[in-house]
Amino acid sequence: MQYIIGVDLGGTNTKAGLVTREGKIVARAEVPTEAHKGQKVVIKNILDSIEKIKNSKKGKIIGIGIGSPGPLDFKSGKILNPVNLPLKNTPLKNIVEKKFKIKTFLDNDANCYALGEARFGAAKGYKNVLGMTLGTGIGGGIIIGGKPYRGRGNAAEIGHMTIDYKGPKSKCGNDGCIEAHAAAKGILSWTRNIDVESTLQLYTLAKKGNKEAKRVFSQIGDFLGIAIANLVYAFDPDIIVLGGKISNAWPFFSKSMNETIRKRYFSKPCEIARTALGRDAGILGAAALVLEK
Ligand SMILES: [Zn+2]
Repeated sequence: MQYIIGVDLGGTNTKAGLVTREGKIVARAEVPTEAHKGQKVVIKNILDSIEKIKNSKKGKIIGIGIGSPGPLDFKSGKILNPVNLPLKNTPLKNIVEKKFKIKTFLDNDANCYALGEARFGAAKGYKNVLGMTLGTGIGGGIIIGGKPYRGRGNAAEIGHMTIDYKGPKSKCGNDGCIEAHAAAKGILSWTRNIDVESTLQLYTLAKKGNKEAKRVFSQIGDFLGIAIANLVYAFDPDIIVLGGKISNAWPFFSKSMNETIRKRYFSKPCEIARTALGRDAGILGAAALVLEK
């Protein structure tokens, strides 16, 4: 039996999974990343997560894929200067390869996500796929003919496309970007007269039928619809798959999102789907890197 190790490197936890070629996770490990303890400890934790599952099944490990927050250099397998990890200029691919003597691949988590959906998830069987993650930020991955399109290294930073040039200030400099409108912080900025500190709280309120919470998510759907219509104009993909923790609020934003896309796009828009990988998207996406042809 052949297996792949997929590693989902996050600011809080690092998850590793032993994955079959068909995308079944047969063993898993989760360790705290301990970002506050510095580079050495974080690297040790990543290696530990791999070590824990490496020998859990009989068979051959054909590769290790790591999905990491960017920015990073795909070709050299180096993490450059991530915001929430002490891994500045860290040649993680080489470090892991040297330790385990297994071919290793590193890419940003959004590319991995899109690749995972294309290989194992909601976009399985489609050639041209756009993956969009909704969370603390908004990430994107563009798969063309089964391969991620990386541009000069920063392609698919779709979270920073402007949807309103007079819109809210954004750290990226592109004020009014979709991330400033519809990622976690942006979402909370639209609430009026309700006391919520997290999007989870807002989601819980919406589920209880709170009108203001439902109005905010419907508004978010409208913003997402604008961004997605622009993406369909640019790429006309076969399918767009939305993941990330905020995609759980799909029942509250999908209607207005789809209406806005239909209203703004001049032809029949492509299919817009919800993630089929759920909480395993990170591990499976990283594993899919190894299978990329
Ligand atoms: Zn931005």
